[in-house]
Amino acid sequence: MIQQLPLFPYLETQESERPPDFIPVYTPVLDGREEKYVLDAVRSGWISSLGSYVTRFEQDFARFCGVRHAVSVSNGTVALHLALHALGIGPGDEVIAPSLTFIATANAVHYTGATPVFADVDAVTWCIDPDDVRKRITPRTRAILPVHLYGHPAPMRELQALADEQGLWLVEDAAEAHGAAIDGRRVGGWGRIATFSFYANKVITTGEGGMVTTNDDALAARCRMLRDHAMPPHRRYWHDEVGFNYRMTNLQAAVGVAQMERIDHFIRRKREIATRYREELADLPGITFAAEQPSYTNIYWMASLLVEPPFALTRDALIPALRAHGIDSRPFFHPLDTLPPYCSDAPRPVALHT
Ligand SMILES: *Cc1c(COP(=O)(O)O)cnc(C)c1O
Repeated sequence: MIQQLPLFPYLETQESERPPDFIPVYTPVLDGREEKYVLDAVRSGWISSLGSYVTRFEQDFARFCGVRHAVSVSNGTVALHLALHALGIGPGDEVIAPSLTFIATANAVHYTGATPVFADVDAVTWCIDPDDVRKRITPRTRAILPVHLYGHPAPMRELQALADEQGLWLVEDAAEAHGAAIDGRRVGGWGRIATFSFYANKVITTGEGGMVTTNDDALAARCRMLRDHAMPPHRRYWHDEVGFNYRMTNLQAAVGVAQMERIDHFIRRKREIATRYREELADLPGITFAAEQPSYTNIYWMASLLVEPPFALTRDALIPALRAHGIDSRPFFHPLDTLPPYCSDAPRPVALHT
């Protein structure tokens, strides 16, 4: 017998606990041309990684970010691994990442053989704090890997100045921040290279999927080659080094092309929803919303807030209380240096305790 799977397995609340008018944390919106384009891709027979939707999705995404190159890959985690590997980061190196992020940020560093070093986040933006990054630079540091957490851009100008001064790469983890901007310039082109995710709960989705963006022609070509078993474009079945199969399929890209047609609408809705929460709830003592810093555009991937005294409930009491009212919610990430793979005796950053 086929096991009955929950409809949206990434929801925080199990289906059996959900009333009919349940408000989930997230549902993908696939009511544009997704079905039409996927059917077209199926009928064309181009279902693997060659096909016109892959090219179109990469072009649309590059244009959206205002960058020269977008290289599609199978998910946001391998996008990070590919970007770091293409920069030559490997064993013995250190990469400074925020303590408060999804674990994939650190895992991708780990896959290269390098060591993730965790820096504290700013109490207002919840993104990596450049002053704390500076304190963690050692002779082994090769890169700074900021995350645009929950849709708010990290302070890229300050980080770029620090990276230039210290001779480090700047790599953006933009998995949660498609369309976020500083002074109107979108994320994806601020660092030397950047990565995005298209998991079902991200700003746009392809089911599973990711993208690497860069303005560097040589680096983009290197990512393309490495994602395809390190096969050079003009010499079939020749391999100078060990590559990966990190390609996106034409079926996924067909969904992505349709999602790109709606992305401005999705972002507008996210900003409207976040504004409404803030307007209705910001006066409650003990509730703090993600602030949008002047000249920064937060796309509010998830409407996020901190719950502290004097608010009447703790976070862990608020989540089930909301659920009883048919509203789904989820906790923040745990600071990564508190998790078994990454905890050490080194002095801990004091990131927002979650
Ligand atoms: C989702 C996410 C990733 C990983 O993306 P996948 O497509 O799920 O592999 C990486 N970093 C951050 C910050 C994320 O939120």
